[in-house]
Amino acid sequence: MSSPEPLDPDLLALSDDADPPHEVISRWRILIVDDEPDVHLATTFALRDSIIQGRELEFLHAYNGDEALQMLSQEHDIAVVLLDVVMQGDNDGLLVADAIRNQLNLQELRIVLRTGHPGYAPEYQVIRDYGINDYKTKSDLSQIRLLTTLTTAIRSYQQLHAINTSKRGLELIVEASGQLFERRALEGFTSRILANLAELLRLPSDGLICVFNARTPSRRPQHAWTVASASGRYVSLEGLSLSALARPELVNAIEHAIRSRSNLYSGEFAVLFLSRQRDHEAVVYLHTGRPLDDIERQLIEVFCSNIAIGLENIALFSQLQDLAYIDPLCHVPNRTQLVSQLGQMRLHAMGDECVVLIDVDHFSQINDALGHLIGDQLLQSITLRLRGLLPRETLLARVDVDMFAIAGRAIHLDLDAIIAAFDRPFSVASHQLRVQITAAAAKLGDTEEDGLGCLKDVTIALNLAKQGMRGGLLWFSPSMSSASRQRLSLLNDLEQAIASNQLTVYYQPQIELQSGRVIAVEALVRWPLPGGHLIPPDQFIPLAEQSGLIIELGEWLLDTVCRQIARWRDEGLGGLRVAINVSMVQFNHDGLIDLLADALRRYQIPPELIEVEITESVAMRKPEDVIARIDLLKKLGVQVAIDDFGTGFSSLAYLQRLKADRLKIDRAFIRDMGSGETSIAEMVINLGHKLGIRVLAEGVEFPAQAAILRSLGCDEAQGYMYAKPAPADLLTLWLQETNRSV
Ligand code: C2E
Ligand code: CA
Ligand code: CA
Repeated sequence: MSSPEPLDPDLLALSDDADPPHEVISRWRILIVDDEPDVHLATTFALRDSIIQGRELEFLHAYNGDEALQMLSQEHDIAVVLLDVVMQGDNDGLLVADAIRNQLNLQELRIVLRTGHPGYAPEYQVIRDYGINDYKTKSDLSQIRLLTTLTTAIRSYQQLHAINTSKRGLELIVEASGQLFERRALEGFTSRILANLAELLRLPSDGLICVFNARTPSRRPQHAWTVASASGRYVSLEGLSLSALARPELVNAIEHAIRSRSNLYSGEFAVLFLSRQRDHEAVVYLHTGRPLDDIERQLIEVFCSNIAIGLENIALFSQLQDLAYIDPLCHVPNRTQLVSQLGQMRLHAMGDECVVLIDVDHFSQINDALGHLIGDQLLQSITLRLRGLLPRETLLARVDVDMFAIAGRAIHLDLDAIIAAFDRPFSVASHQLRVQITAAAAKLGDTEEDGLGCLKDVTIALNLAKQGMRGGLLWFSPSMSSASRQRLSLLNDLEQAIASNQLTVYYQPQIELQSGRVIAVEALVRWPLPGGHLIPPDQFIPLAEQSGLIIELGEWLLDTVCRQIARWRDEGLGGLRVAINVSMVQFNHDGLIDLLADALRRYQIPPELIEVEITESVAMRKPEDVIARIDLLKKLGVQVAIDDFGTGFSSLAYLQRLKADRLKIDRAFIRDMGSGETSIAEMVINLGHKLGIRVLAEGVEFPAQAAILRSLGCDEAQGYMYAKPAPADLLTLWLQETNRSV
């Protein structure tokens, strides 16, 4: 805390309601209690014009015990009582002394007992019991005697008073600081400060506190100071900026304290500068109406250094608040705050509230292509453009990397304008970036009650929009959320089913068309329900794929298949190859090769007995990655088939680089052969043969299809005509019965 600075004379010239600076004017108040008016006169006469400890004396007069006690209970700051022992009653004076200490509880006040009877001295016990500080006879009314007596009494009063004031003040400070440190909002903190200071100084609360807000965008520092709290005569100034206060004397005093970074005391007011760090500063202006004494100033300094710490705490706390609730890149509320606001909106709903989610399509591509800096700037420009479109009462939040949310009443929201905002490109650095968005909206009344549920519901709609209608806007309907809940519960069940080994594998033979020999089987997963019903893979594989559960499912399947291959080997059906389906997520998963190698080793299986099927759509994704991965599979020794072939228009050159072992013509083209349409099947067969890749026809149901395929030179076939997918033991029987074994 800085030390007080001499007053600025200019400043004082301006302050019309303040006294010029001077020594603290105050007098020692002496109460004379005596039933003889002469004693009053003689005492005041003897002490007239006396100065004790730098102060004049002020006399108060009481003529009996009752009067004395009444006066003592009404008047403040009486330092000494000159008390006559014998008034109406013999011991009236002693009763008064007793009442002073025990009823009025005035402990600082010094009591000088006086008696008219020379030679009469009270017992030691009386002096002790009645809290009497001195004893004099009335004959000792000479100026010098009185002056010494009073000086001694006043000195000890002054010391006691100082000690007690400090003690009380420090206690108050400790207590107040404790309470202040619990405060996390500036508002409550500053109003408490004013109240605490008033209490400390035993003054009515009459002041204001200005705080500095470093974030106020202004070149004039005055604008950054605002009145955070005000009390008493200044109440009307609360909330105003320092520059807006039409009180030059006040503003001058505050500015003086800010400039000098120190406290300022005058006869009528005190200005306290609070700071521990720049940016966390405050100034308290207190109307005191009287000068503050040294002890008061010292207490204030102690208090100020305490609250400066509290002020810093609050600044830290609000920074933490910001971190928790504000998106640091775009400076708008984040997901947490949106959720809490949505909850609030539901609570105080007018009925037309809605929330819109806006997802920037292909944002990661922009990020990858132009760098994160440009990506960040794009998000900031989107924020600015959206914010510019929206009225104040509408909330704009950033809820994910490239996702924004808008929430508010429908009458304030122009959805068309929001969507149209993305028609114009965003200029970022030297780029003109066109951005497509996919959006979803929900009426709050349609969604779940709490903020989180509400955001979840509109996210369901957004995900649906992203799957089916990119670039559009989809309104949420409650049925979407029940469908999604069903998917979720199915997913939970599937996780359980995998963990408890409830899934099973069916196998479907693949036949060599020329010889009719079984050359391999395809493993197809099945999920049997307790009643015997099977859930087909089409219903749960995509879900497993979306949720990542497919990895676990794939591990389980591979283990099951390898164990089965080992068993067939033991049953004398060795050499039966098994094709397994590997989805996009599995194929891209880094663990795939290790997983395969590990399973082959564990069951001692030659790698060529496993064929990995990937669909043509997976094979066409990222050509270089796919080629590299297939190379790894081939190095391991497993075979590779391209499934559902014929729709993806893979080029000859690309196919050549893929080094697949087998092309599987999609079932749809085999079905079409029934109506005479054979061109695609023919094309795939020719393509395969040109590249030395074997071709298998899927979904062969009728002999006529098989005949055409044979005539086209197709190598292999699979379909209901030969066998439906079946459990391993049934397949084993079938293989033995039909005697088609490998
Ligand atoms: P897919 O790989 O194209 O499998 C062939 C599908 O055609 C199988 O359906 C099979 O039962 C069916 N099918 C075979 N012959 C005929 C026929 O003559 N006529 C007709 N109409 N259909 C026939 P399924 O078993 O329902 O499997 C559906 C899809 O599920 C599979 O298509 C495959 O993509 C996926 N899938 C199955 N098992 C697994 C698995 O273990 N892992 C992964 N990742 N996907 C699997
Ligand atoms: Ca397949
Ligand atoms: Ca297929």
